[in-house]
Amino acid sequence: METVAPFKEVIDEIKEKGGDAVKLCYQCGKCDTVCPWNRVRQFSMRKLIREATFGLTEIESEEIWRCTTCGKCHQLCPRQVKQIDDMVAVRRMATGYGVFPAGAKLIRSISAGLTSQGNPFNENRQNRADWAQGLSVRPFAEGMEVLYFPCCYSSYDPRLKKVAQATARVLNKAGVDFGVLGSSENCCGESIRKAGNEELFKRLARENIKAFIDNGVQKILVSSPHCYHTFKNEYPEFKVNFEVVHTSQYVFELISEGRLQISQEYGKKVTYHDPCYLGRHNGVYDAPRETLKRIPGLQLVEMAEKRENSLCCGMGGGRIWMETPKSERFSNIRMDEAIGLGAEELVTACPYCITNFEDTSAVLDYAEAIQVKDITEILQEVV
Ligand code: SF4
Ligand code: SF4
Repeated sequence: METVAPFKEVIDEIKEKGGDAVKLCYQCGKCDTVCPWNRVRQFSMRKLIREATFGLTEIESEEIWRCTTCGKCHQLCPRQVKQIDDMVAVRRMATGYGVFPAGAKLIRSISAGLTSQGNPFNENRQNRADWAQGLSVRPFAEGMEVLYFPCCYSSYDPRLKKVAQATARVLNKAGVDFGVLGSSENCCGESIRKAGNEELFKRLARENIKAFIDNGVQKILVSSPHCYHTFKNEYPEFKVNFEVVHTSQYVFELISEGRLQISQEYGKKVTYHDPCYLGRHNGVYDAPRETLKRIPGLQLVEMAEKRENSLCCGMGGGRIWMETPKSERFSNIRMDEAIGLGAEELVTACPYCITNFEDTSAVLDYAEAIQVKDITEILQEVV
């Protein structure tokens, strides 16, 4: 039998870029049994880890870009192999050599937009707060209760702007003293970091942190679980600690404190999809559900894959910027699950999930069968 000599330089580089834990893997294959990719095509994290262990990683391969960083395999791995860190490490290597396969080639133009305008769409930075026109949203000033940070999708994308607008209406209704930073803010940097561009992540993060400090920000309200995760768990790497709260938590607080009064019924059957970065990565499962349960007339039904076992929508880990063939979208399975329950609305709390579900709805012609909504979009109708 031929012995494959390990490629020491590659092993060292993977280790140096944060993938040292690959060596802990004992190839049990449990990761592959839960990975959502195996619901739509063949994919083996176990194999990728094996290749990395021996320095045999092929950086030109599409495979290293597949992991959506959903975290499902983390929960099951008996050896704490940290699959997400390992994949980010090999993507850092590929990014360092400027190697992007066809499915990930958009990363180059995305990086250019993030560098020049602070958003992945290369939209004008000056227009970042345009979503708020006509909604009595003020620029953030020191001493305000909270900074609302809507994320790039909610700032620029026509569908997701509606979520930022719904959030502003709900905050106004509750009398929250909030403001926005608009052109002074950047993308949080979460997805580009997961896509391997550490340098760009650090630049975006430092600029955001400077803007937060210069403006006296202490508490940040976010619509995106990706911003939530990054501000809460990754920005402390820069020796700062802001209080971070997701809209699904904040509206629940407002309702519980009596600041937000629900005055109307919502007679619909809805199901809630746990976004990976709110649920599995940060343990926020109850606040969104409790908010929905407080709405009279609303019937909340649960999908079989919920909470820790929620099915990833497919857009994390920078996949939002990569090509996924229509037949390989996890969101198709998720929407079928929701429709199968008889739900009239699929409710979630993440701009990426909404983007993906809306796309599935358009492609599979599901608009008649089910509507996709953010929690704040329901709330604005009942408060
Ligand atoms: S579950 Fe962990 S130990 Fe098992 S194959 Fe996957 S990475 Fe290796
Ligand atoms: S993090 Fe999710 S997508 Fe990535 S390998 Fe694990 S289960 Fe699959």
